[in-house]
Amino acid sequence: MELDLLPLSLPGISPKRPVVIAGPCSAETEEQVINAARQLSHYGIGIFRAGIWKPRTKPGGFEGNGEKALPWMQRVKAETGMLTATEVATPTHVEQALKAGIDLLWIGARTTANPFAIQDIADALRGVDIPVLIKNPVNPDLELWIGAMQRINGAGIKRLGAIHRGFTSYDKSIYRNLPMWHLPIELRRRIPNLPIFCDPSHIGGRRELIAPLSQQAMDLGADGLIIESHCDPDCAWSDAKQQVTPDVLNFILDKLIVRDTAASTESLKSLREQIDEIDNTLIELLSKRMRISREIARYKKEHNVAVMQTQRYKEIIDKRGAQGALCGMQVDFIKAVFEAIHSESVRQQIDIINKG
Ligand code: PEP
Ligand code: MN
Repeated sequence: MELDLLPLSLPGISPKRPVVIAGPCSAETEEQVINAARQLSHYGIGIFRAGIWKPRTKPGGFEGNGEKALPWMQRVKAETGMLTATEVATPTHVEQALKAGIDLLWIGARTTANPFAIQDIADALRGVDIPVLIKNPVNPDLELWIGAMQRINGAGIKRLGAIHRGFTSYDKSIYRNLPMWHLPIELRRRIPNLPIFCDPSHIGGRRELIAPLSQQAMDLGADGLIIESHCDPDCAWSDAKQQVTPDVLNFILDKLIVRDTAASTESLKSLREQIDEIDNTLIELLSKRMRISREIARYKKEHNVAVMQTQRYKEIIDKRGAQGALCGMQVDFIKAVFEAIHSESVRQQIDIINKG
């Protein structure tokens, strides 16, 4: 199903800079909301974000002020002229946000993962003209993300965009949510005219990562950024570690290099970036494989098992050769790759077995 889209037409800071949505993770108090909005507006930010309803992994955390905070957003609009944005997760949120004149809605990662919830929101939006941004689902499932886009678009929302906020991972990493850049890149390939925003705050989970992630997003052709900004980040009621003051945000945005988008060199650049990203993933996977292989060596050492198990080696080469052929690669090429991987793996195992 093709999406029927219109441009988002959101106010940017300048043609040289991306569209930026900024504001605190949560609307905590009226004063906190107004202060953040005043400072952000002073730096030219045109769209103010604040969470009114907060989806928390576990009960007991701050779950947002709800409806009571909506007049604070109206005050932001009246006093600064900024557009206002908030997260909606239920038809009631949609109804209340629309009634309060919120200008842009986004759908959170936990909600996107649930087609029932998305359909309910889509039904509540039928007949309304408002820009909606859809965060990727918490799990790396591009089809689920696109499906959510189709449901909302099917309800007649044409000013639609995506927010890349990273993906949950069981493995420890420097990120709160793994960026897995190949997913937004693939989304761009599948739906070229869909604007994609990057949310470096929720990908990084730490304020030091906002600048490098924002730059990476720009380099990969993101259309905009959504960044959490709070006047007193360390005292924030939610996501304290990943928020920056408006001053710091302005500094980060000033330093961003937004590259020329001359069409032909741009598509070549984007293809090369995809290759770089995949090569990165290859190295990470190889290193993970070697780590497990060293683990096996420790086991073999303890149980006095030989390093080289010919049967197992033959099995790997045959199975992967056949799989590679199914994916359109030469069997010999796959064999050569796996022979090289296996030989490095054996070298590392021998290293461990001979040690001490
Ligand atoms: C948020 O934007 O504050 C939020 C809850 O984000 P996510 O849905 O990406 O976790
Ligand atoms: Mn947050």
